[in-house]
Amino acid sequence: MEERTTGSIQLKPGREKPVLNRHPWIFSGAIRRVRGKPGPGDLVDVLAHDDAWLACGYFNPHSQIRIRLLTWDNDEHIDEQWWGRRIKRALSTRTLLKLEPETNAYRLVNAEADRIPGLVVDKYGHYLVIQALTFAVDRRKEMLISLLGELLDPDGVVERSDVDVREREGLAQVVDVPWGRRPPEEYVVRENGFAFAVDLLGGQKTGLYLDQRENRALVCRTSYLQDHTVLNVFAYTGGFAPYAVAAGAQKIINVDSSSTALALAKRNVERNHGPRPDDEYVTGDAFQILREYRDDGQLFDVIILDPPKFAHRQRDVPSAARGYKDLNWLAFRLLKPGGLLATFSCSGLVSPELFQKVVFSAVSDAGRDAQILWHMSQAPDHPVLLTFPESSYLKGLFLRVY
Ligand code: SAH
Repeated sequence: MEERTTGSIQLKPGREKPVLNRHPWIFSGAIRRVRGKPGPGDLVDVLAHDDAWLACGYFNPHSQIRIRLLTWDNDEHIDEQWWGRRIKRALSTRTLLKLEPETNAYRLVNAEADRIPGLVVDKYGHYLVIQALTFAVDRRKEMLISLLGELLDPDGVVERSDVDVREREGLAQVVDVPWGRRPPEEYVVRENGFAFAVDLLGGQKTGLYLDQRENRALVCRTSYLQDHTVLNVFAYTGGFAPYAVAAGAQKIINVDSSSTALALAKRNVERNHGPRPDDEYVTGDAFQILREYRDDGQLFDVIILDPPKFAHRQRDVPSAARGYKDLNWLAFRLLKPGGLLATFSCSGLVSPELFQKVVFSAVSDAGRDAQILWHMSQAPDHPVLLTFPESSYLKGLFLRVY
């Protein structure tokens, strides 16, 4: 059924530009007046200050992002077919990436970047994991799940709407299996031919950090890992480790604060490569552990630093930058001459330029020299919408250190 707009919003003079440029968000401060009585999740027309029609989107009076835009075409009707067309378009992008059959876990729908604001859908083998990040998507999720069910015929759909951004939308956290079968506690998927067991209901994010797939392959493509020691910091459920073993690494030391994640990391490495008695799994705070290695005078050939998001809001950026600097400084102190460092930041608010500056200041304070071999970013199943640079968040530098 076609949805009708229940009101319109008129922008303040001079606030039309981002809308005309197809940025998908309208903040409360850009709005001059709301006409009608739109409720949370309702469709509204967006008008210029002179009432010219600009776009249509969905409304949430409880969020600072008051409107998320869906279309700039006044002839487009937002109905179930419309949502279906958008989902199909997102799926066709993943098909053209040819990730299957080596990889069967990847992002199918990347919210705003696929022009479906608020909806994330990840595929894990025969299961789908969805996140409803906005009130409007939450309200329509039954319809969206049935569309996904029809298009993809999964064994089950898991909802992992346990993310803090939901609070800003006035929504509670939800973990549920709204459709089909409940996945096994450890469900095995494939990534670049490696097997990874994943806990779809209890793991971090939607189960795996799918955005690092290409970087895992890249980091482990160099001949340098052969017979060398790799320090895999913020290892989660293995991530880079099975790749590093395949690249010939002699020993991998995996560090993470989650002992559950590390237990699964060990099973994941052994699932792919058999027993590895020399590998280590160290539970604890990475900053603390790296300091201990430094105090003990330990050195490593390859270090991977893949920390969690440090900056959640603009005001966190300075302390996030200090955190990245500290971490990278420690890594530079711990690397043998000629060693490799793969260092990442998944804080969208920390730009690639700022990140590179921070790493520069760390290398200079550590008195080392480093060359950038590769600039890294998020995997292409997490596309970045050109008119929405906020959809770019993962950045990394792959460095040779002297
Ligand atoms: N490299 C992983 C993903 C890392 S996600 C992969 O490729 O799959 C970030 C990880 O950092 C999480 O597993 C989280 O448990 C861990 N973490 C968060 N804070 C930490 C800290 N202070 N010390 C060590 N690990 C931490």
